[in-house]
Amino acid sequence: MTDPTPTPGIHHVTCIAGDPQRNMDFWTETLGLRLVKRSINQDDPGTYHFFFADAEGTPGTSMTFFPWESMRQGKVGSGQVSRTAFRVPEGSLEFWEDRFDEFGVEYDERVERFGEVVLPFRDPDGLPVELVEVEIPDDDPTVPWTEFVPAEYAIRGFHSVTLWLADPDRTIEVLEAMGLEKVGTEQAEGDTPGDERTRFAAAGPVGKYVDVLPTIQGGRQGHGTVHHVAFQTPTDEDQAATREAIQSLGLRPTNQIDRHWFRSVYVREFNGVLFELATSGPGYTSDEPLSDLGGRLVLPGTFEDRREEIEAQLTDVTVPRAESMEAGD
Ligand code: ZN
Repeated sequence: MTDPTPTPGIHHVTCIAGDPQRNMDFWTETLGLRLVKRSINQDDPGTYHFFFADAEGTPGTSMTFFPWESMRQGKVGSGQVSRTAFRVPEGSLEFWEDRFDEFGVEYDERVERFGEVVLPFRDPDGLPVELVEVEIPDDDPTVPWTEFVPAEYAIRGFHSVTLWLADPDRTIEVLEAMGLEKVGTEQAEGDTPGDERTRFAAAGPVGKYVDVLPTIQGGRQGHGTVHHVAFQTPTDEDQAATREAIQSLGLRPTNQIDRHWFRSVYVREFNGVLFELATSGPGYTSDEPLSDLGGRLVLPGTFEDRREEIEAQLTDVTVPRAESMEAGD
């Protein structure tokens, strides 16, 4: 068997939120991401599925949420993605600290990690998030969305996820099977429970890193926790080869599932983190033009036939719009 094509990096991260309006307001207006898809949880159609991304929904930029209002508050712990980090341009953290002060967002002191500056904060559900200053090249694949945040400070897709794991070695085998390579290890600082952070790098420029920290600190799923992390397997062939590689380690990945904007394989890895492999296509513009992304509730496939029933179950939400954009087109 030939080795699968290494993953270019993270495709999306999906999290659990509480109040849908509060979630919408924070991730669009406060953080400046674009709502690129307003849909439903395809396994639980009475719940929204929001997708926040860059201007074009580029793979490696979408943070998605299930606002499960009835669920309890979660706790970050072992067997979870403990931190999700985004790239911001060099020199922009001062802007973000000022913005967080203005909007009442809880944030911590900056920390330095592998030579980069990191600003940790929490979203309104207590989800731990970080901004990391990086040099954004001119030919970067991400496209800033500038409705609420100027381009020079805008979030430019994922930087990394941090995994908290009871037995990191087994998960490292899975990361390596997907083509990530070890970068190095350094002493963990700040709010992390383990004493060593080991970094792995994927092949592409966005969503490039996975950090691993050993801990047995218990957690539970709920508001403010990550549900799963998806990695890019651009084509069906890439995905099939990666699926086979992780299956050969003894894991039990699902068959391919059509998620309408991408095709997915899910696997719970050895320490309990839910991984997904997602294709690049057909993408978020497959059912809405780029200019209208997120403009309406999209019900994929046969869910459209049940629109009236589904809409009646969903809480009404208003998508924040910047005044300058309301006035124009
Ligand atoms: Zn997913």
